[in-house]
Amino acid sequence: MSGIERVKCLIIGSGPAGYTAAIYAARANMSPVLYQGLQPGGQLTTTNEVENFPGYPSGITGPEMMIELQKQAERFNTDVRSGWVSKVDFTGPVHKVWVDETTEIHADTIIISTGASAKYLGLESEQHYLKIGGGVSACAVCDGFFYRGQETVIVGAGDSACEEAHYLSKLCTKVTMLVRRDEFRASKIMANRVKNTENIEILYNTETEEVLGDGNGVTGVKVKNNVTGETKEIPATGFFVAIGHKPNTDIFKGWLDMDETGYIINKPGSSKTNIDGVFVSGDAADHVYRQAITAAGTGCMAALDAERYLAAKEG
Ligand code: NDP
Repeated sequence: MSGIERVKCLIIGSGPAGYTAAIYAARANMSPVLYQGLQPGGQLTTTNEVENFPGYPSGITGPEMMIELQKQAERFNTDVRSGWVSKVDFTGPVHKVWVDETTEIHADTIIISTGASAKYLGLESEQHYLKIGGGVSACAVCDGFFYRGQETVIVGAGDSACEEAHYLSKLCTKVTMLVRRDEFRASKIMANRVKNTENIEILYNTETEEVLGDGNGVTGVKVKNNVTGETKEIPATGFFVAIGHKPNTDIFKGWLDMDETGYIINKPGSSKTNIDGVFVSGDAADHVYRQAITAAGTGCMAALDAERYLAAKEG
């Protein structure tokens, strides 16, 4: 496709936020066009079993759930396309977007649901067990349940790591927390909570050398004390990484209000951004909850806000 295309509602991103926005926008006759981005289906496609999304009593795998959401959006004629939005221009009342550097789209409303990406250490062993769903996770609330009654290791020392370690401590027999410096980055109250939890062992000045396993699943973690040089192996069946997330919002810098990490700031109680007709949903604006169900909820809000904006404009 080439030339300029005019659309009523453009949705950027294909996680639970994007597809939920599409379902609502399509059923409101807004003929939404949805671009899937680099990782169709979003972060859930790196998750194994999803057991906490209401309506799936037996659970569902992340990739399957995303296929179902796509089908549901397409059932109401959402135009789902593969493509990567590379540039935007929000100067005028009609919002300009470029896809794959070539296609130019003019949209009356835009719903941003580009999500966030968990940061990982980048070790080969970590990536191996992450890819095969063999015991590496960046979300304790999503995956902690699979490790109940077992021993886990978590890396990170910020508020997220503390929150997740504390969450795991209620399910696991033992949680070992790897802190790379001799102090936490987290707020005092969060750090104190983990320090005061009996089954959390904190190892300071400690970095991950390798995630150990039998090829199919994690069996332990090899760590190194970066002061003494001493190495040791910690038995564990789960390795949790909680070293921060990066919202996928770079292309909106300079246009939309963001916090210092790059999360888009929405107007409280709505999905509105500082630009009229541009709405945000899901993890691109949420560093606190980061759940499929909350992303879906804000996707619904964004579609309703977009519909009301269009209705007011069209009079
Ligand atoms: P942060 O950036 O605050 O913390 C990241 C942590 O990961 C730091 O301790 C950092 O270590 C560590 N880290 C980074 N890279 C590595 C690495 N390669 N190896 C080992 N450790 C590493 O991210 P969070 O996700 O914790 O928090 C993000 C924001 O969200 C913060 O503003 C936080 O306050 C907020 N938040 C608030 C919550 C709440 O109030 N309930 C809950 C969760 C998050 P180092 O300290 O050495 O740099």
